[in-house]
Amino acid sequence: MDPLILEGITVAPGTSVRAQLPALELADGTVVNLPLLLINGVRPGPRLYIGAGIHGDEVNSIALVTRALARVDPEQLTGSIVCVPVQQPLALQADHRLPLAQFLKSPLDQVPADAWTCFPGDANGNIAQVMAATLFRLITRCDYALDVHTPTRGGKYVPIAILPHHGLGPHAARAEDMAHALGTGWIMRGEHGMYISDGILCVEATRAGVPSLTFEIGEGGRLDIEFVEIGADCVLNLLRSLGMIGGEPVAPAQTHVMRDFLGIRAQHGGLLITEVALGQPVVRGQVLCRIFNVYGDEVEVVTAPEDGLFVRATTLSTVSRGERVATLGLV
Ligand SMILES: [Zn+2]
Repeated sequence: MDPLILEGITVAPGTSVRAQLPALELADGTVVNLPLLLINGVRPGPRLYIGAGIHGDEVNSIALVTRALARVDPEQLTGSIVCVPVQQPLALQADHRLPLAQFLKSPLDQVPADAWTCFPGDANGNIAQVMAATLFRLITRCDYALDVHTPTRGGKYVPIAILPHHGLGPHAARAEDMAHALGTGWIMRGEHGMYISDGILCVEATRAGVPSLTFEIGEGGRLDIEFVEIGADCVLNLLRSLGMIGGEPVAPAQTHVMRDFLGIRAQHGGLLITEVALGQPVVRGQVLCRIFNVYGDEVEVVTAPEDGLFVRATTLSTVSRGERVATLGLV
C-alpha cells in the first residue's frame, strides 16, 4: 500500500492525518484553512471523498461525518478517505448558510455567494468560486464523493440520498448504487430542480467521472443526536458497500424512491403549526399545517395538493406569504 500524497501532505499506510489546507486570505491577512481528515488504509482500494458543512448552518453534517470516521480504524481500512468536514469555514463562522460578512460588505462581488452551486469553481473568481475550485481539486483525486447537508435553518429533512441527474451516464448509475448503499430509506431520483442543476457539487463531480451524491438529513442550525447517529450509520454503510470496512450494513425497513420534490408555500403570513409527522405518507387534501395570525385567528389551512411523502418540514415558528411551509416527495 502506497502513502497517500495530497496537496503536499503525506499519509503513511495505516494512519490518519489532520491537516489544514490554506484556501482564502481575508483583509487582515487571516488565512482561511480548510480542515482535512485524511485516512490511508493498509490495502489498495477506492478513495472516497466525504464533504460536509459547505453551508455554515448545517452542523449535523459535520457531526455525523466525524462520528462515522472516528469508528474507522486506518489499520483495518481498504483504500483511503479524504474528508473535508467543513467545506466553507467562513459560513460556519457566520453560523449561516452563506459567508454573510463578505456578502454584506460587497454583495456584487460575492455573487454567486454559495460555493455549493459554483462547481467546478474558478481559482481566479470570488470567495465561493475559489473555495469550489479548491474542493474540486480534492474531489477529482478521488473515486467517489459524498456531500453531506441538512436543510438550511428552519427546515428538517428525513434522511435522504439525492442523486445527480441521470443524463450523466455510467457514473450517474454508480451514484445510484451509492444511494442504495447508504441505506437512508429515502432516495430522490429527481428529474428537475435545484439539486440536479449545473454547478452543484455532486452533478459536476459525477460529470467529471467521480460518482457522487448529496445526502440531506435532519435540521439546519442545530445538532440532533438522533440524526447524527442515523447519518453516521449511513456513512459506514457506504464504506462497507465499497469494500472499505467490514461489518454488516444497517438496512432500512423500506426504501422510498421519489421522482420530484413539491414545495408548498404560504398564502398568508403568521404563526405556523405543522400537523403531520416528518416522513409520513399524505393523501391529496390532507391537512399539513395551519397558519394563525397574531390575534390567534386561523388564516390558512394548508393541504396536500397531491399524494406524497412528507419529507421536509418547516421548523420556523413564523412564515411570511411565499415562504415554504412543507415539502412533499412525489413517488
Ligand atoms: Zn446545504
